[in-house]
Amino acid sequence: MSGIYVHVPFCRRACSYCDFYFSTTQTLLPDFIAALKREILASPPEWRTEPVRTVYFGGGTPSMLPDGTLRELLETIATVFSVESGAEITLEANPEDISVLRCRNWLNAGITRLSLGIQTFDADTLKWMNRPHSPEQARQCIKTVAQAGFASFSCDLIYALPSQQDNALLTDLSNLLVFQPPHISAYTLTVEEGTRLHAWVQKGHLLPADDDAAARHMQLVSETLQKQGYERYEVSNFCLPGFHSRHNSAYWTHENYFGFGPGAHSFFKTGAQHAIRWNNPAHLNRYVKCAAFERFRVSEQVGAAGLAEERIYLGLRTKRGLDFRELEPYEPGISATGFFDTVKRLTAAGLLSQNGTHLAVTEKGYPVSDRIALEIITELGL
Ligand code: SF4
Repeated sequence: MSGIYVHVPFCRRACSYCDFYFSTTQTLLPDFIAALKREILASPPEWRTEPVRTVYFGGGTPSMLPDGTLRELLETIATVFSVESGAEITLEANPEDISVLRCRNWLNAGITRLSLGIQTFDADTLKWMNRPHSPEQARQCIKTVAQAGFASFSCDLIYALPSQQDNALLTDLSNLLVFQPPHISAYTLTVEEGTRLHAWVQKGHLLPADDDAAARHMQLVSETLQKQGYERYEVSNFCLPGFHSRHNSAYWTHENYFGFGPGAHSFFKTGAQHAIRWNNPAHLNRYVKCAAFERFRVSEQVGAAGLAEERIYLGLRTKRGLDFRELEPYEPGISATGFFDTVKRLTAAGLLSQNGTHLAVTEKGYPVSDRIALEIITELGL
């Protein structure tokens, strides 16, 4: 099984915290669509052998694309790949793009799931974030999506905002929970270099949340959502039963995925102990002129140790966790190595739970899951 990711690098305006790859001018949009179709159609035969289980339009703001264009892109994908019936096809959408008509057009085009950029219901925060929507638009958009017939949708929420009090976060959560979204992705705000937020923080105009506040907020989010019946199936992802994101889950279990568009990443296993990763440079001007995509891509070979390391990092971010026997194809004999000393120490600290060779981070361990993975990887000498 494989997944397809399409990167649409256009936004109406730049959110102050965002360091994704996007352009706020749309003059190259028609050329971009033409190049995207060329790239999809030029997919080599070895990519086409597995059925496609998920397609994800991310960005950027893919809900800015004309509805007919989305349909055309899905048709182009279907001429090249064998897309399973019942595939999960997700569109990232911003509240200002939502209407009943557009939702129906998306459903008719084959989109099965929306991922909504809500972020917060606080008007002042939306303002400094430079989001184009208001709290009322956010509420209305969730109502519209559900009423128009999207059974599956996700809402993004950002927490650990500068000067955010616990009560403000709880208000955001209760505003969101009124609608019982089937899926919620909740992220700690990170201050990325090169963003306006970074410049404001450097100048002392905004005070970012410290590590303690961020950890406390993460705990508040997790406790509140789990009390309401959501399963925390990954550090930042929560869902009602049956609504986990199949696309993102496939990243965490090392399934193949093919990324199209400037800045998109791909992963392809070429054997039991070997894979290739590649990415398209985040360069729209070069992308639209590209005639030979295989020369445009930047690729790296990933060997057995690299794959084992990734499995540990990715597995320990998820509730499913990691069974060390899964690493045997990459590193024969790994299950019998002395990693259990580190595991015992982390388990005693309440950060990890162990059942035989199966490991999973605990609620206490989630905020430091990367550090836990690093300690295990270091112990294993990968
Ligand atoms: S809409 Fe999304 S991709 Fe575009 S600037 Fe805002 S956060 Fe970044």
